[in-house]
Amino acid sequence: MTKQTQVIIAGAGPVGCVAALILARAGVSVQVLEAEAGLISDLRASTFHPPTLDMLAELDVTPKLIAQGLITPKFQYRDLDDGLIAEFDHALIADHTDHPFRLQCEQFKLTRVAAGMLEDYAHAPIRYEARVTGAAQTDAGVTVKFDTPGGPEEITADYLIGCDGSRSAVRKSTGIAFEGFTYPEQFVTASVPEPIDEIVPGMGHVVYISHPEEWGALIHAPDYWRFLYPIPADMTETQAFEPEFLQRKLKRLVPYGGQYSANHLTIYGVNQRVAKSYRNRRILLAGDSAHVNNPLGGMGMNGGIHDGINLAEKLVQILAQGGNEDLLDQYDRQRRPIAIEYVQAQTIRNKNNLEETDPKIRRQRQDDLRALADDAQKSIDMLLQTSMINGVRKSLSIQ
Ligand SMILES: Cc1cc2nc3c(=O)[nH]c(=O)nc-3n(C[C@H](O)[C@H](O)[C@H](O)COP(=O)(O)OP(=O)(O)OC[C@H]3O[C@@H](n4cnc5c(N)ncnc54)[C@H](O)[C@@H]3O)c2cc1C
Repeated sequence: MTKQTQVIIAGAGPVGCVAALILARAGVSVQVLEAEAGLISDLRASTFHPPTLDMLAELDVTPKLIAQGLITPKFQYRDLDDGLIAEFDHALIADHTDHPFRLQCEQFKLTRVAAGMLEDYAHAPIRYEARVTGAAQTDAGVTVKFDTPGGPEEITADYLIGCDGSRSAVRKSTGIAFEGFTYPEQFVTASVPEPIDEIVPGMGHVVYISHPEEWGALIHAPDYWRFLYPIPADMTETQAFEPEFLQRKLKRLVPYGGQYSANHLTIYGVNQRVAKSYRNRRILLAGDSAHVNNPLGGMGMNGGIHDGINLAEKLVQILAQGGNEDLLDQYDRQRRPIAIEYVQAQTIRNKNNLEETDPKIRRQRQDDLRALADDAQKSIDMLLQTSMINGVRKSLSIQ
């Protein structure tokens, strides 16, 4: 088989673009196939955790994100009935990271930065309007089929990485199961320009709000504040975004005498799923194609970037430094358990805690959080977990 490139990446999202950048910088030829006509710029992830910023700093990406983002060292737990419960400051983990804060910066800014940097490498083009439809492999290589406006095409390579999101055509083409569950409720994100920290003095820039029925989260991105909250499974978009209902929902989470000018409204279903394997011989999965989770804790994109970097570095070892292909099994061993034991476990716990209905458990949870916040060492332990530093360290310790 004559290979047209060494690596094909399906999907120019944050994970695909970062993986491509690592390969390109190491001189490995890579072709990114992106279904859309350009980079996606919808509002999705906006939280970058400390270890992600540390990793992206090695690619000279982090300063470019910081220039367009909002540094948020602290996050809060609040209760709708009881107000502020506890606040945690990443300054406590300054010995563990060069970036002791969350950076709020929309994910499309990362894809733009990384795709822009890829333009310096002729051996790493992104091809738009190229929707991957399937892949076949032999011991010698992989052939990827994709649709273009001019008709179907094929391309051959040593390896294919599926970074094509939660509905991954690559994952489906390999028959790898996507195990887990779908939450019964839907999630709404509503972005507003009103200055919430002026409306409610003391309101943090990342806030988790517990309540048995009307829990939610609030995130301050550079240009807007984003509310996140659940609605019933059977509620239609028209019902959810009916102005009176929408205002009532937002004002319940953050009381306001005026009218919120809500824009960028999204409703989406949320899954907790992990692919049965991240490797099928020459075909690898990374990012949302490998795992999806609820957005509470901001771990989906971050975990995906950690995958993409881990995998791309192993492919560099194999393709440019004579490394053994067994490294690809190590990728699966290192990253898949982290998705299950850290990201899935933490995000499921985050949601359970916010929506707890038992008053006794709810009160106990609040007492625990207050006690945690009063104990510096316990706060550090918690921050190492929520910032994903523990997950990354565990992953790297696996042989
Ligand atoms: C509303 C919302 C809020 C979120 N908030 C957060 C958050 O705060 N923090 C966090 O960490 N995560 C968050 N997430 C999750 C985060 O957006 C994803 O984890 C992240 O986008 C995954 O990146 P990815 O590159 O794997 O996939 P994607 O970003 O989905 O990118 C996949 C790319 O592949 C392309 N593609 C799809 N199919 C094909 C195909 N067949 N062929 C070629 N290209 C294809 C797509 O066009 C896209 O460009 C949120 C998600 C949503 C929906």
